[in-house]
Amino acid sequence: MTAQSIDGNALAQQLREGMKAQVERLAAAGCRPGLAVLLVGEDPASQVYVRNKVKACESVGMHSLLERLPATLGEAELLARIDQLNADPAVHGILVQLPLPRHLDADLVIERIAPEKDVDGFHVASAGALMVGRPGFKPCTPYGCMKMLESIGCNPRGKHAVVIGRSNIVGKPMALLLLQASATVTICHSATPNLAEICRQADILVAAVGRPRFVSADMVKPGAVVLDVGINRLADGKLCGDVDFDAVREVAGWITPVPGGVGPMTITMLLQNTLESAERSASALPPPARI
Ligand code: NDP
Repeated sequence: MTAQSIDGNALAQQLREGMKAQVERLAAAGCRPGLAVLLVGEDPASQVYVRNKVKACESVGMHSLLERLPATLGEAELLARIDQLNADPAVHGILVQLPLPRHLDADLVIERIAPEKDVDGFHVASAGALMVGRPGFKPCTPYGCMKMLESIGCNPRGKHAVVIGRSNIVGKPMALLLLQASATVTICHSATPNLAEICRQADILVAAVGRPRFVSADMVKPGAVVLDVGINRLADGKLCGDVDFDAVREVAGWITPVPGGVGPMTITMLLQNTLESAERSASALPPPARI
């Protein structure tokens, strides 16, 4: 069997096309969706990520504000800037690019963002809302993975989903979204014994490990849907995922490539969250949970 590829670029493009009309409708009503992106320091990878996010906003007609702040910025100054953006009605989403320089406490900084503008979905209020099934922003990468499943008509209900990785930004929220969709979910991590055996039981296998080609063909059930979240840079400069794509595609039913899989969906769901935030602020919808 050769798996069908889930084209993240094509799906992202399709979703972004659909967003343009919604953005213009909101803009006509005086509420153009706006995203503020704060970059502290000069980490080269972060510079590329924030540029892509700003470009993505422009591509659907959203307003974006990119602030490059010096690596020496004090915590109090950063928190004060977030307070200003929290109060700015033209800003519907605030994103602080991670990682932050070491002297800044990332948890403190993220939790300063008003939950109703936390479009990355990293605030503890967003995580709590997801946990208890209340309205809130879903972290973009797992949200994008769920959209990919939907796009191929894969309903997780009753399926066994295995998530490798338990980070707060990918593994855990991915598992919660799959659980919400009524999958039976197993979360694996570095202390999981019999990992291959567990993975082989998965109808849906999500790899969020951060190790190149970690998932081999003998870890995959024939016909499974394999979502590869990993982005790893190899010594030759090329990108590869956490899944051994060439070998696993001979076993799986569906597979996401890297690049061109989950990555473009992550940015698209950031736009989706910003749009949802603007919609909430334009209408009388209640904001997501606060703590
Ligand atoms: P983290 O490093 O925070 O988490 C990795 C997880 O993998 C941990 O839970 C760790 O377990 C687990 N793990 C590590 N080694 C093993 C092992 N040998 N066996 C089983 N589990 C293991 O990474 P992130 O969740 O932030 O990201 C994961 C990958 O996804 C990275 O490649 C990252 O670049 C990529 N990524 C891609 C995005 C996209 O848009 N496509 C967005 C975000 C991330 P433990 O907790 O026990 O240490």
